[in-house]
Amino acid sequence: MMKKAIITGIAGQDGSYLAELLLSKGYEIHGIVRRIAIEDSEHKLKNISHLTERIIMHVGSLDNILSLIKIVKDVQPDECYHLASSSFVSYSFDDEISILNNNVNSTHYLLAAIKEFAPRCRFYFAGSSEMFGDVGQSPQNETTPFNPRSIYGISKVAGHHLARNYRSQYGLFTSMGILYNHESPRRGYEFVTRKIVSSAVKIKLGLQDHLLLGNLDAWRDWGYAPDYVHAMWMMLQTDEPDDFVIASGKTHRVRDFVDTAFSLLDLDYRRYVRTDPQLFRPSERVQLCGDATKARTRLGWSHTIDFSDIVRLMVEGEMSLHTKCNQ
Ligand code: GDP
Repeated sequence: MMKKAIITGIAGQDGSYLAELLLSKGYEIHGIVRRIAIEDSEHKLKNISHLTERIIMHVGSLDNILSLIKIVKDVQPDECYHLASSSFVSYSFDDEISILNNNVNSTHYLLAAIKEFAPRCRFYFAGSSEMFGDVGQSPQNETTPFNPRSIYGISKVAGHHLARNYRSQYGLFTSMGILYNHESPRRGYEFVTRKIVSSAVKIKLGLQDHLLLGNLDAWRDWGYAPDYVHAMWMMLQTDEPDDFVIASGKTHRVRDFVDTAFSLLDLDYRRYVRTDPQLFRPSERVQLCGDATKARTRLGWSHTIDFSDIVRLMVEGEMSLHTKCNQ
């Protein structure tokens, strides 16, 4: 029988790739989106505009348990991928309360709805390397203690404990991926990789003259988003629920990303990039670098696209956006 999956955050980078993957595997896909996204679908649903005929959309709000109960009850999903969250780390202090509330409550409500109305549904929780925060060791694996240093990281640790408790107390199949940064041409503009690529292309085309960045010497473990959503699916196909670090295991500096992107466009980044102290983040001492040995050995997962190819794919994607606009 055709499997049914609910995806929250379906219009985001990961949600859209996951929807493509599950469609290719014959799933019936249900996405939960806010009314405002339907009303402004040209912008808010652009990542899935090519899929809208093939997915079933539910208008619902993750901060309303009643709407989630209704969807879970009606759909009777086999799998639920909870990807929606306020995902940007450096929002201002003003957003703190709502980020924590939204991220924790949405996870709790979904788990509660599944426990009551679709207890055989397998649940994927999108954890993040931000959960490690100010860690004492590098690389990190599933046994590394969490020490989150952002509200986003704190909300993910809380969600993780909720999912784990629903696993041990109520026997729900809940698995978590601790995903390190993963990029693609669909990455949001607030993330440094997309910011760099979009500016580099504009500079190349004479539409912009410089790029302001924060810490060029910050290190990140960057992978390719489609590889990472594949891991999410693999995590729900195992015999037992578990938690897995998903990472490339290699770190690069923001400067390396900048250099690679500008070089692909035959530009010398030193002529165009300036730093702005206001864009620096506090406390970025230890390198976040993931050790995905467990995912490799238990799931058979591996990443297929390396750093320089990620940068190239993003530059090509950005270029093609401009070519399309001018046609
Ligand atoms: P995340 O913070 O790991 O979720 O991902 P980002 O893409 O937002 O940031 C990656 C790294 O880039 C962090 O270490 C930032 O300090 C650094 N960075 C340097 N300049 C910028 C900038 O202008 N914008 C953002 N978002 N990050 C920057």
